[in-house]
Amino acid sequence: MRPQPVLQSLRLLQRSHLINSATGRRAIQTASSVRVPNFAFAFDIDGVLLRSSKPIPGAADSLAHLKEQGIPFILLTNGGGKHETERVAEISEKLNIPLDATDIVQSHSPFAELVKGPDSASALENKCVLVAGGDGDNCRRVAEQYGFKNVVTPGDIFMDNPAIWPFSKNFSNYYKTFARPLPRPVDHTDRARGLKIDAVFVFNDPRDWGLDTQVIMDLLLSQDGHVGTLSEKNGRTDLPNHGYQQDGQPHLYFSNPDLYWAAAYPLPRLGQGGFREALEGVWAATTGGLSKGVELKKTVIGKPYQGTYEFAERQLLRNRAKKFEGVSDLPPLQQVYMIGDNPESDIRGANSYRSSYGSKWQSILVRTGVYPGGEPAWTPTTIADDVQKGVQWALKTSKWSS
Ligand SMILES: [Mg+2]
Repeated sequence: MRPQPVLQSLRLLQRSHLINSATGRRAIQTASSVRVPNFAFAFDIDGVLLRSSKPIPGAADSLAHLKEQGIPFILLTNGGGKHETERVAEISEKLNIPLDATDIVQSHSPFAELVKGPDSASALENKCVLVAGGDGDNCRRVAEQYGFKNVVTPGDIFMDNPAIWPFSKNFSNYYKTFARPLPRPVDHTDRARGLKIDAVFVFNDPRDWGLDTQVIMDLLLSQDGHVGTLSEKNGRTDLPNHGYQQDGQPHLYFSNPDLYWAAAYPLPRLGQGGFREALEGVWAATTGGLSKGVELKKTVIGKPYQGTYEFAERQLLRNRAKKFEGVSDLPPLQQVYMIGDNPESDIRGANSYRSSYGSKWQSILVRTGVYPGGEPAWTPTTIADDVQKGVQWALKTSKWSS
């Protein structure tokens, strides 16, 4: 699949002509003088490029080939719990291919856009946010790297006030390793002084479902996000949603909808979607739930949701614009090939995504991951044995000859 070395260096030369070696300046080029693909790729990671952290045969060669050909791609995963820099370093090493942090979109990557928000009034940069899930406080550190300046974890609240969920005393030694003092005390009598949370992020799969459920429920029922308070509006039938989440409570975000995930155990394990369902159950039992006209207002991102695909496409377009920076008439991106192993997330997401940038997404289902064969729940554009075959199919479909 890789071109001959001579051809390869010629092509690299062809691309490097974008920079004039004498002046060091970028020369103006046109799309007709440079080979600019009007398509790109999005790859799921687990079950497509790696399986149980080991490279899937053909994956490394496929990515190397796309790099050599100057064809843009992005890695799009529902995984997370680490910063993008850390995650791509691991993948780079395993696949022996250089990757940049902007080459990957993880489940929680879109949260970074909320630091500044659409406008200064909604920016969360200087607000206090709760980050739940992940090992230790890894996700807090990821959130801080995104730019959130004031991040609290359920463990911090527990260590400050163990009575909030006494059953977690068995895990005190765990929480001790990373808990930080709260930026404000838990004081429900003096609201000006007490801890107030402005947004709740489930960044990754919670480890201590009990504590996380209790702390999040408290906040959803609180007055204005003040820890230890209870809104008087809860249950008022004259208000929308029976008064629930009508009193300035923090908005609730989930990064990953997957109910189950494939782990080393022979049967699938509950994922973050399992935690969300459990929380929804507690919410419904507490408020009356949908049968009483009460919903749990929240935002869920991750594949297959539109917002995640939109974020990924924006990043892909930025990377593409940078890659072809010297091209004056860069043609629009017309096709994106999403290669994934999970019909419910990868294929469903690509099939239902509507791009506001004008691209069309096609889905390629591979047989190297969770898809067991047979009629998939969501029909892909095509099924390929593995990622290498999928890439070959896409290159042929786009009439790209190497
Ligand atoms: Mg997968």
